[in-house]
Amino acid sequence: MPDWIIDLNQINQLAAARHDDFEVMRYMLEADDDIDDSRLDTYVDQIAAPIIEAIDCTQCANCCRSLDVYLTQADAQRLATGVHIPVEHITTQYIDRQAGAEAGEWGKFRSQPCAFLSGKLCSIYDQRPESCRIYPVFTPDFRWTLADTIEGASLCPIIYNVLVAMLDEVDKIIRPDTE
Ligand code: SF4
Ligand code: SF4
Repeated sequence: MPDWIIDLNQINQLAAARHDDFEVMRYMLEADDDIDDSRLDTYVDQIAAPIIEAIDCTQCANCCRSLDVYLTQADAQRLATGVHIPVEHITTQYIDRQAGAEAGEWGKFRSQPCAFLSGKLCSIYDQRPESCRIYPVFTPDFRWTLADTIEGASLCPIIYNVLVAMLDEVDKIIRPDTE
């Protein structure tokens, strides 16, 4: 199994150095019509699975320190129920409704790093918002969300390593007959 790069400083520098390579991959995929979106997503899921499995998010938590976290009303209610605090209190104390609305969302956690981060662990893990549960997202629509994914490569070791693994595979994926 490859040694995945997980050092955050290294990731930051390497992602900047490989940004153009990632963008070339995006142009290649957007221009390609031999492989449809669903088959491409299947390849990406196969490439990402062992990387997601191998990288321990409890030793990182960089997304919890660095990203805006958006919530739905259902997320707020689940959190309130889980921690036995009235949802009105959760909303007032932790959620910025206006900032959420400006991004087209119901709400956004006020603080960054996240107020619920304890060391490198989520103190509300079972009640965390859906956006935290699904991060990082590669599929569906890898091809058409790749620009956003590339932006996350400098802060997330999983994203960086998946994109590098994709660079190694993209020729085979879009031109299988040349292999
Ligand atoms: S709710 Fe938990 S998983 Fe989500 S950003 Fe905060 S600490 Fe991280
Ligand atoms: S999802 Fe990425 S940034 Fe977040 S903890 Fe895991 S490896 Fe780190």
